[in-house]
Amino acid sequence: MMAASSSAATHVGRRDNNEDNYLADGRLGLFLVADGVGGHEGGEVASALAVESLQRDLTPEGDAPREAQVLRRAIQRASAAIHEAREGALVQMGSTLTALWLLRDRALIGHIGDSRLYRLRDGQLECLTRDHSLVAELQAQGVPVGHAGPMAHILTRALGSERCDPDVELAHLAPGDCFLLCSDGLYEALDEARIVEVLQSWPVELAAEELVQLAYDAGSSDNITGVVVRIP
Ligand code: MG
Repeated sequence: MMAASSSAATHVGRRDNNEDNYLADGRLGLFLVADGVGGHEGGEVASALAVESLQRDLTPEGDAPREAQVLRRAIQRASAAIHEAREGALVQMGSTLTALWLLRDRALIGHIGDSRLYRLRDGQLECLTRDHSLVAELQAQGVPVGHAGPMAHILTRALGSERCDPDVELAHLAPGDCFLLCSDGLYEALDEARIVEVLQSWPVELAAEELVQLAYDAGSSDNITGVVVRIP
């Protein structure tokens, strides 16, 4: 597994509780952002279950491409754990999950929901994940959505549902690649130029905190979470 430097930060923002969770585990080479939904404590519980479940199931020194199956199953197990815990006040809980798992010389991306993974390479920022949201799917079909209002946040795929169908992809790594995993509270408040500027000019150890603070200052009304990972 490749040794990468990283930082992570989260902020409750202008909400009463923080339903985002994250992991930055250099030993496992595993980096996660999970954004819980489901009201009351539901969102917090679901995103925490997702992170704990993956951290427990994935071991270091994974070997692609066999590990793509391992990651897919681990995400499906996390979904099942949330599904089984759905009762009482937690009956509607679910979570997004975006995962970057560093293997020996490549990485796996696991993704479900509308958190995102960006990669900065040679000054170009690219989003490597596709939002599983109603708005994104309508846009992909060429339907003009305009201001979708509350509909904008309806997820078409998430952890916690009976069937869980994550996107799992292999990614090639280049020296100097910089990754950002983040919840919608971060990317919706910041334009891409700002994200590029921070990833390029701040030391990786401070970049996550800076991005989260900038998103808060820009007026984000959601929980805000970012994990920054730099490949040496
Ligand atoms: Mg959110």
